[in-house]
Amino acid sequence: MATHNTRMLIIGSGPAGLSAAIYGARAGLAPIVVQGLQPGGQLTITTDVENYPGFRDVVQGPWLMEEMKAQAEHVGTRMLWDTILEIDIASGSPFRAVGDSGDVYLGETLVIATGAQAKWLGAPGEEALSGKGVSACATCDGFFFRGKKVAVIGGGNTAVEEALYLTNHCVEVTLIHRRDELRAERILQDRLFAHPKISTLWNKRVEQFLGDPAAGGLTGLQLADTLTGELSEFACEGAFVAIGHAPATELFRGKLPIDDSGYLVVETGTPKTKVPGVFACGDVMDHVYRQAVTAAGTGCMAALDAERYLAALEFEQSQREAAE
Ligand code: FAD
Ligand code: NAP
Repeated sequence: MATHNTRMLIIGSGPAGLSAAIYGARAGLAPIVVQGLQPGGQLTITTDVENYPGFRDVVQGPWLMEEMKAQAEHVGTRMLWDTILEIDIASGSPFRAVGDSGDVYLGETLVIATGAQAKWLGAPGEEALSGKGVSACATCDGFFFRGKKVAVIGGGNTAVEEALYLTNHCVEVTLIHRRDELRAERILQDRLFAHPKISTLWNKRVEQFLGDPAAGGLTGLQLADTLTGELSEFACEGAFVAIGHAPATELFRGKLPIDDSGYLVVETGTPKTKVPGVFACGDVMDHVYRQAVTAAGTGCMAALDAERYLAALEFEQSQREAAE
């Protein structure tokens, strides 16, 4: 078992963690990134990325994350294969984390970039057709459904926002919900019901995603009526599962403030958590935007604030020493 000391310990290797690493390394903080079970994060499970700035042509998610990792390493980041299982925040800096390997990590600052995962229905066909008509991100994939007929599954704010967003691209959007009322905010519901391209299907559960992953992708959904059990088929070329996201915050429960939806709470407009020296960035603290570019942006902010935190500590210490 080894002990790793660093001025900046980063948990998570998605766009947020790697951007924090690039800034932290260039500031001379010799960051360590503990990569977790999904090195590179969520973009490694997608194909086309068209909205990350800097690339005129479509780039592949896994390639983009390899490039970010290479850049982080190039400027001096140590990337480690491990998953953090325990963390001690209460004792203060250096923050102590223990990995699945048994290794101990001591970080003078801690950057939490553990991300979030979209929740899936788990119905047959969903996984096989993911990226072939089935998606959990309208902002990411809506563009690929220009002029097509799509469904959105869910009844919360996310589902309604996804449906509204998709009207920019699609000819017809059907919101499919398992009950007959939405839990989305009233203002969003009003916009949804008033939109000429959007219709609703109530009391329907998706039993199966239909289509051949090797030939044309999604063709429709098999639905079950939640009141009568009656089965029906709904034809569509795209289906957006929007039943919520699960931020990876279990590790921090009871150690840092977490909101009702499970996200880490930060000071508004900053990546600062309640604990000085501990910063959160990316999807783990953002239930609104959840994009690679916003994750990267908040990762940058976390590193800059970590650097300022350390500089302030050093200044205070030098003042104390000068006074003695
Ligand atoms: P993530 O990418 O979720 O990374 C989290 C990291 O934390 C992972 O490396 C994981 O291994 C690590 N981790 C978690 N727990 C631990 C632990 N205990 N110890 C160590 N490490 C841990 N956004 C766009 O802008 N454009 C797109 O086209 C786009 N397409 C998408 C397609 C799909 C299918 C999905 C799922 C998402 C897409 N997104 C897209 C959203 C984008 O991927 C996320 O917003 C972004 O990845 C969030 O970055 P992050 O760094 O906050 O977290
Ligand atoms: P959510 O509010 O938890 O809603 C999830 C929806 O999916 C619910 O309608 C739920 O149905 C449905 N659902 C869950 N599991 C399902 C399943 N297995 N099969 C079918 N349907 C299922 O999630 P969210 O919409 O992602 O919102 C999460 C949080 O983020 C909320 O606090 C929300 O307010 C917030 N948010 C805010 C904004 C904004 O402010 N603009 C935008 C997005 C999200 P039931 O209703 O039947 O339970």
